[in-house]
Amino acid sequence: MMKMDCTCTQKVHTAPVECIEVSAGAVEKVADILKNYNRIFMVSDENTYEVAGKRVEQLLKEAGSLSHKFILKSPAHPTDTNIGRVLIEAGIDRELYDINAMSDLPDYILAVGSGSVNDICRMVSYRLGVEYGIVGTAPSMDGYASVVAPLLVGKTKIVYQCSIARHIIIDTAICKDAPYELLTAGVGDMIGKYIAILDWELSAMHTGEYYCEKIADMVLNVTSQCIDEAYSLFERKADSIEKIVNGLITSGMGIAYSGSSRPASGTEHMIGQTWEIMDLENGRELQLHGHDVGAATFVAISMYKKLYKETDDMEIKKLIEKYLPAFERILDLQKTLKLPMTAPEYDKFVEGCLRGRTFRVRYTLLEYLYQNDLLEEYIEEAYNEVVLNK
Ligand SMILES: [Zn+2]
Ligand SMILES: [Zn+2]
Repeated sequence: MMKMDCTCTQKVHTAPVECIEVSAGAVEKVADILKNYNRIFMVSDENTYEVAGKRVEQLLKEAGSLSHKFILKSPAHPTDTNIGRVLIEAGIDRELYDINAMSDLPDYILAVGSGSVNDICRMVSYRLGVEYGIVGTAPSMDGYASVVAPLLVGKTKIVYQCSIARHIIIDTAICKDAPYELLTAGVGDMIGKYIAILDWELSAMHTGEYYCEKIADMVLNVTSQCIDEAYSLFERKADSIEKIVNGLITSGMGIAYSGSSRPASGTEHMIGQTWEIMDLENGRELQLHGHDVGAATFVAISMYKKLYKETDDMEIKKLIEKYLPAFERILDLQKTLKLPMTAPEYDKFVEGCLRGRTFRVRYTLLEYLYQNDLLEEYIEEAYNEVVLNK
């Protein structure tokens, strides 16, 4: 259990995460970190099995703690089919013809992979009441310490309450060799934190929603470090990768500590995830989560900057002003990083912004603009600025 004392109304924040190991060679410690478990069910996909799963399997076998493993086909999206498959494979049938026998469950589920494998295992862990942990293979998203999982059910994406990982083991020597687009996706997911926290402050101001400054500062600090490191991402330095991984985990810890994804997800996630849903609905290939979120971050920056210029509300103006230097840093980073615009089509862009407002019940900039009858105009201008560079 991790703990952080605080001056907010919660007084203390806790998260049921027992161990976070981020280092070069972290995988070698897996058997020792999981020494209290002796029937571990390991899940990976074909790619992550090659880069880390094989070694993890060997180490757990040597320690005598591996129950069995299951390898999903790559790319393993967190679909209902994949979740069902892992659920079926989780148990071991003792007596095939004994109608009274229940299957043997593992005492631990170990996800070896990045976002998708993690999300699949998180749901199965939650439903079975079996603890789980993750060996992360790429710094591509911030969900390692999250309390929710966005899953693809039917033709849509639904955010479910899920288990939190007990152990988070990230080997930076493996992560630094991850495909380059997974690295940029991790940064895309991180730059959105400024919008998420600004939205959180906006909501506290307008709806009286609970807000914790310490959690917000914790997330903003690591976000700022990520931006510094992201300039040299292509050099794949272990040091930089470690800071980005720490940023992604810390923002996940913000979620665990506050009990909601508020510190890590606002306008940028609501728009980005709506674009993801629209791709699903239209049978288009899915973009990386971090790329959708990164693209939507530029939309939110454009909207906030316009609001800053035009509003008469001095309280809001002052609030946005605090974030303007961060916005400029993100826009400057983009010249080097060149995150892709995942919704360049006008219809997709606009619909994503409109539907994004109600993606979940959460007061954000989108709701503020809607209530002030400004949303459509702001979307229009953001399209001109972000997509057409006008
Ligand atoms: Zn607090
Ligand atoms: Zn995210």
